Amino acid sequence: MLIDLHTHSSVSDGTETPAELMLTARAAGLDVVALTDHDTTDGWAAAQDARPAGLTVVPGMELSCRWFPDDQPPISVHLLAYLFDPDSPALSAERARLREERLSRGERIVEALAADGYPVLWAEIVEASAGGVVGRPHVARALVRAGVVESVDAAFATLLHHRSPYYVTKADTDVRQGIALVRAAGGVPVFAHGLATKRGRVVGDDAVAAMAEAGLLGLEVDHPDHSDEERRHLRGLAADLGLIVTGSSDYHGSNKTTPIGVCATDPAQFEALVAAGTGAAPFRD
Ligand code: AMP
Ligand code: FE
Ligand code: FE
Ligand code: ZN
Repeated sequence: MLIDLHTHSSVSDGTETPAELMLTARAAGLDVVALTDHDTTDGWAAAQDARPAGLTVVPGMELSCRWFPDDQPPISVHLLAYLFDPDSPALSAERARLREERLSRGERIVEALAADGYPVLWAEIVEASAGGVVGRPHVARALVRAGVVESVDAAFATLLHHRSPYYVTKADTDVRQGIALVRAAGGVPVFAHGLATKRGRVVGDDAVAAMAEAGLLGLEVDHPDHSDEERRHLRGLAADLGLIVTGSSDYHGSNKTTPIGVCATDPAQFEALVAAGTGAAPFRD
């Protein structure tokens, strides 16, 4: 059983449509794939329609959140959410707010770049996103198209880095509120790539314990951005806190070099996750 519980389609910042992503998952030999676009469920129906026989599809999302430490600025954290009711009004309103926030923040980044002479246009970036949830990868691709940088990776390493003068933060959801919203919608909240230091500051064990207290149900342990030591630490935390352990690729199509299925989830952990989700059912034979 090959189970990958974290992938992105062109509905957010991946490069394949949900239908293409289903074929990629099948071709890579996956038995289970979760579609977890940023702040939207827009890809669920297309994934369900395109699902090849034998592939189980877990409807999900990656919610943009923040942790507020006592003594430091907020830390960006990503919350995976699975099998929640897509029509839950409170969660639906919050993800709509996040998408609006992404638009105004993306525009500010692009205007600042343009003001300094970089040939990027917000209207063109929005058009190229084809209705998908806009993120820095869309700006990165525009910088590649304009010949400013060689690759999406190079854009993230320079102009779009979180310490770049062009970086603008977003007013993401307080993660404890995010967890409560997902649980209220019958979903399963899992803390995504929690110790990925290459992405910026990460939270301490106190924050993970507080999230568990707030209703968190799982930790993404095996992730391409985690070192062996980070995985070992998270696995220990999950055991201490009684949390489900997942492993996933965080596939983004050609926006990242990571292949689908490169990290995977243990079948027993997957069964525990499915048993905990009551807001939606997996799409399967
Ligand atoms: P944003 O949500 O707009 O702040 O952009 C962050 C997104 O960019 C996350 O979904 C990451 O997966 C993605 N990302 C981060 N670093 C890179 C990179 N080097 N190349 C491509 N995508 C990246
Ligand atoms: Fe992403
Ligand atoms: Fe993420
Ligand atoms: Zn992701």
